[in-house]
Amino acid sequence: MKRITAAVVEEAGGPFVVEDIELAEPRPDEVLVKVSAVGICNTDLGAAAGHYPLALPAVLGHEGAGVVESVGAGVTKVAPGDHVVLTFNSCGSCDSCHTGRPSYCQQIPVLNASGTRADGSTAYTRDTGARLSGHFFSQSSFATYSLASERNVVKVPQDLPLDLLGPLGCGIQTGAGAVLNAMRPRPGQSVAVFGAGSLGLSSVMAARLAGCGVIVAVDLMAERRELALELGATHVLDGARDDLTEELRRITGEGLDFAVDYTSNTQVVRAAVAALNPRGTCLLGGAAAPGKPIELDMGLIHLGRTVRGMIEGDSVPDVFIPELIEHYRAGRFPFDRLISHFAFDQINEAIKATQSGAAVKAVLTLTES
Ligand SMILES: [Zn+2]
Ligand SMILES: [Zn+2]
Repeated sequence: MKRITAAVVEEAGGPFVVEDIELAEPRPDEVLVKVSAVGICNTDLGAAAGHYPLALPAVLGHEGAGVVESVGAGVTKVAPGDHVVLTFNSCGSCDSCHTGRPSYCQQIPVLNASGTRADGSTAYTRDTGARLSGHFFSQSSFATYSLASERNVVKVPQDLPLDLLGPLGCGIQTGAGAVLNAMRPRPGQSVAVFGAGSLGLSSVMAARLAGCGVIVAVDLMAERRELALELGATHVLDGARDDLTEELRRITGEGLDFAVDYTSNTQVVRAAVAALNPRGTCLLGGAAAPGKPIELDMGLIHLGRTVRGMIEGDSVPDVFIPELIEHYRAGRFPFDRLISHFAFDQINEAIKATQSGAAVKAVLTLTES
């Protein structure tokens, strides 16, 4: 057992409490990581609010970055001292995993949001022996140490600050991958991004990187629209306007080649689909509540349009995260512009800043890097 400090959420909607707990030693396929920093993502907030089946109390957190402390006997991918980004986990043996689409793994819910390992066990306990949920995205990185799986650690260069890299494991790879992996636009094509938070702004930067000719960012907040313009948007629109489709058609002429929605607002999605050109594609990238219906014009889809879901930017993290780091080094993907830092014990303040929109991507720092 290892004594660690973790932010524990006790009950749905309650605050995070920083306290000392016990963590079991790594199993043969597990990796113990000393967490340097961790981003806050909306999925953490959804789990803390009780929107997922995982039992509370729980240790959450799924955008960790840190240094490998020790590895299980069967681990060959990383060694103690390696710098790693922690990402989502996948099984490695289903059809999606075999065909290079691990974010559509059959085991995604079990491995990332059940609160336990796949076999139902947990490595997290209190002094009293009481069980805690953990293994969130196989990392639960709102803690000084994280128990990851060999499959969801990505080795990263040692010369970059670890307090920047964590969000590459979820939010930023999702936004960038939506464009670079899922859309794969030709230079000059048009894309609209609905919701200019950390995902949407990452999509904007990726669209500029891909050479898109028209990049429209749609958001309710003027500050976000301003930042989108700085990061590469050619046009911005207030999401509250009721003529979004007409305005997007006016800007693009023939209609959008691509759209990605992060708002999960059905009115916004309908406006996005209606603004596509006949072969345009709309990605649904927001975490909608299970069972939420949407009504779409079948005639529009029949004419050739595509509407599809998108998870984690269709990313193969071992390939895509190093690519994003190279784009960052070359100045083509300045994702550091999205990040604000908070001390680990300021986690509740960081969450408030995330919810109010004051912070685009809050990152908690645990150790100097
Ligand atoms: Zn799988
Ligand atoms: Zn996330």
